[in-house]
Amino acid sequence: IRVLGIETSCDETAASVVALDGASAPEILSNIVLSQIGEHAAFGGVVPEIAARAHVEALDGIVEAALADSAVTLDEVDAIAATAGPGLVGGLIVGLMTAKAIAAAANKPLIAINHLEGHALTARLTDGLDFPYLLLLVSGGHTQIVAVRGVGDYQRWATTIDDALGEAFDKTAKMLGLPYPGGPNVEKAAAGGDASRFAFPRPMKGSAQPDFSFSGLKTAVRQAATAIAPLSDQDVADICASFQAAVANALGDRVARALARFRQEFPNQAKPALVVAGGVAANRTIKATLEALCSQAGFAFVAPPQKLCTDNAAMIAWAGIERLRAGIADENTADFVPRSRWPLDSVSAPLVGSGR
Ligand code: ATP
Ligand code: MG
Ligand code: FE
Repeated sequence: IRVLGIETSCDETAASVVALDGASAPEILSNIVLSQIGEHAAFGGVVPEIAARAHVEALDGIVEAALADSAVTLDEVDAIAATAGPGLVGGLIVGLMTAKAIAAAANKPLIAINHLEGHALTARLTDGLDFPYLLLLVSGGHTQIVAVRGVGDYQRWATTIDDALGEAFDKTAKMLGLPYPGGPNVEKAAAGGDASRFAFPRPMKGSAQPDFSFSGLKTAVRQAATAIAPLSDQDVADICASFQAAVANALGDRVARALARFRQEFPNQAKPALVVAGGVAANRTIKATLEALCSQAGFAFVAPPQKLCTDNAAMIAWAGIERLRAGIADENTADFVPRSRWPLDSVSAPLVGSGR
């Protein structure tokens, strides 16, 4: 099976061809990602209108490049998979319309993919993971823990009640005068800081509710920064280090609960796995915290390569292959409309007995 994937839900224009032949491991034949970060940096965040226009300008060339790079012609592709939500509706329209046009012209099926399903299934592309497993998705727009039970069979166990974690990093960076995107710059600054200087709150720690919250932490950072302004470089470093420590600690508490629940719900799995995805998964302090937690709890810790953790089209093509293989590519209609909101647990599921 060969699928051409298209991703335009946020600020990356991406196309990829992924192949699966018989029982051998899947192969990413091409994976082109054009980030718009430079175009949004001046605004300190993604501007939807700029994003949509940039997708329009770039997508045709990116698709051509992905096909050329893969040495697969459109004729040899079995289907076109495109992100149909959730995300910024302008970008979704561009990607889905382009995919529909290509599919119609080449007489191939179109598969509408939920972006979060792409993230959720990536570990099967990169690591051949078997169901079920636990997913922690931490990006600029999402902070979720999901039990991945099968293709089309996802159970969200936790989400954020306010800011996404990447958003908290970005806002903290902005407050401290660090450039966008904030995450990598906060991490860099934190490297020279004293994590014990500020006692920031660990939001939700110990709470019986499974969810995340980061807006209180953000407020605490603002208060601390205001109290000691003007900030020296060392102050900024200390705040970043203390913020990062609070985040890692709070995240660890939430994930530990989920690991325990997973043990209870899937008692027969000898070596269960925790998969991380999303841009924030690049953070080394967070990674180290989760890795330690997993080794304590007897879980495998799976972190796909960063290029496949952040937004890309290989994960969309792969989700298309998974859906074709499971016989649930039923979003396959020319009139599928982009959905800016589309919870992962509401995607179409396999009929009983198939696709598991
Ligand atoms: P979506 O949420 O729709 O998946 P996105 O573009 O917001 O899309 P990603 O591209 O996966 O998400 O991740 C970007 C986010 O990850 C930004 O908020 C960025 O600050 C954060 N990030 C990137 N690197 C790091 C890091 N080293 N530490 C912490 N956060 C990071
Ligand atoms: Mg992005
Ligand atoms: Fe994403």
